[in-house]
Amino acid sequence: MMETSRPTVYIETYGCQMNVSDSELMLGKLAASGYTPVDVPDGADVILVNTCAIRDHAEQRVIGRLGELKRHMTATSIMGVTGCMAQRLGPQLLEKAKHVSLVVGPDGYRTLPAMVDSARNGQRTIATTFDMEEHYEDFTPRRFDKVKAWIPVQRGCDYRCTYCIVPTTRGSERSRQLPDVVREVEGVVSEGMTEVVLLGQTVNSYNDGTHDFADLLRAVGAVRGIRRVRYTSPHPNDFSDRVIRAMAEVPTVCEHVHLPMQSGSTKTLKRMLRRYTREGYAECVQKLRAAIPGLSITTDIIVGFPGETDADFEETLSAVRELGFADAFMFIFSPRDGTPATRMPEELTVPQDVAAERMARLVETVRAGARALNLTQLGQRREVLVEREAKRGEAMVLARSRDFRSVLVPGDATLLGQYLTVELTGTTGSTFTGQIVSERAALPLAG
Ligand code: SF4
Repeated sequence: MMETSRPTVYIETYGCQMNVSDSELMLGKLAASGYTPVDVPDGADVILVNTCAIRDHAEQRVIGRLGELKRHMTATSIMGVTGCMAQRLGPQLLEKAKHVSLVVGPDGYRTLPAMVDSARNGQRTIATTFDMEEHYEDFTPRRFDKVKAWIPVQRGCDYRCTYCIVPTTRGSERSRQLPDVVREVEGVVSEGMTEVVLLGQTVNSYNDGTHDFADLLRAVGAVRGIRRVRYTSPHPNDFSDRVIRAMAEVPTVCEHVHLPMQSGSTKTLKRMLRRYTREGYAECVQKLRAAIPGLSITTDIIVGFPGETDADFEETLSAVRELGFADAFMFIFSPRDGTPATRMPEELTVPQDVAAERMARLVETVRAGARALNLTQLGQRREVLVEREAKRGEAMVLARSRDFRSVLVPGDATLLGQYLTVELTGTTGSTFTGQIVSERAALPLAG
């Protein structure tokens, strides 16, 4: 029952899983400070927009959305902007949107209740100072998902990829203490969840001063009741032999890696300052595949990066064909103010129509490869975890296999959080359809 006396808070989240996890932390902190989270903005006392700054498009969308959300405010409601865009733009946001009264960067959520209270008293405030110690350890996240839990293990990034705004908006890399992470994982098991996703900008460079990522995978993977351990996003350069061995030896670590490649051209990778070559990336993929049978790899690719020639792009296409990705997130380069890529010579700029044409060819190549891969798996059986009801309204649920494949299976909400054994019966290219073989699945069990 809703406690009418308690003020209500609505949060809208854009961007990556780290932002989703931050929204869960903010809601938990505000709930502990007397606010009631609500699912719709209408009439909410506090409306927060947790933002992403990774591409210009993402920011333009937020500016538009801030205007739309104004209609849902009452005379006493306040609106705040949090996250990477808040960190990047700071006071400019108060200029751009007069109805916004607080702007808080990713390291400022500890002060959020006080800032919200002062905003409700008419003040407009900003908090964008970095805090290298901050991991919000004493916050209790208010989780959106009931099947799997996002577990941030690291904040910030020490790489300096020339197109990326993250080091500017999230600061330098720092890792949580391993016992704190294990304690949180034990907590989500006690809430009935069996899958965790470890989060970091370059999560496999995790190091708390005593333990590295291999130690973390072993410790989290051994928590009693945990059945699946996933993580995102790793960097190819941080896959040490220790980490790969831990992935191969810990039964609960799933057979999927999302390994951003960005480009298949060493020349382009150099200008991106990714710190590996095409050959180095391919070697990392081969080492992972050799150690982990059935491993599926997905990736991120940027087209149209300054200086990318037709030949460079052909190298990206050939890498996609050679490495056999199960799927990919593909983007046209988006210049971000404050990143080195925006200071590259004008003549290196790839015209938008050329970038769009390359994007179309890349999507086609990735989809064709994924579809061919999927077709070879029809008739096979998989253990899947039911994550949610399918969007299409049919009596279908969406389940996920250990190798991160989406499988549509007949069923309803009573199956959420359940493990099933299914037979793969069809594929649309990226998603499978499946038939339930048994409502029990032989599973690796930790502890
Ligand atoms: S590794 Fe590179 S792309 Fe990834 S968050 Fe860090 S700077 Fe950005």
